[in-house]
Amino acid sequence: MSRNKKKLRDRSQEEQVVKKHVVLPDVEVKKIKEPRPICSICGEPIESIIEAITEADNSYSHFDCVIKTLNEKYHVQEPDKLSYIGHGNFAIFTPDEEGKFTIKERINYESNESYASMIKFVEEHKE
Ligand SMILES: [Zn+2]
Repeated sequence: MSRNKKKLRDRSQEEQVVKKHVVLPDVEVKKIKEPRPICSICGEPIESIIEAITEADNSYSHFDCVIKTLNEKYHVQEPDKLSYIGHGNFAIFTPDEEGKFTIKERINYESNESYASMIKFVEEHKE
């Protein structure tokens, strides 16, 4: 009984070692190959391309920098809120009497082409 238990534990330790060997090199490669474009708004490198926004001229900007710029450009003030709604679109939300946020204005920031080219850029730099 106790011998069987020991055998089982040994096997699971073995599996863990194998798993580590398989997973680690993959992670390393992605880290090195990840593209680091420069943010066109603040000039700092963009750590994660997935969190970047594509500009009309195909440059990239930090998500946070774009939010800040749009807040200023559209004079978004409390209680209104600017939020990313996906696929390169932002929207200004405003609360109704019940406090439920509804879209007041839609802002198309990334064109579909530049969104597609960002996805392509990421794919090309993956391996
Ligand atoms: Zn930035």
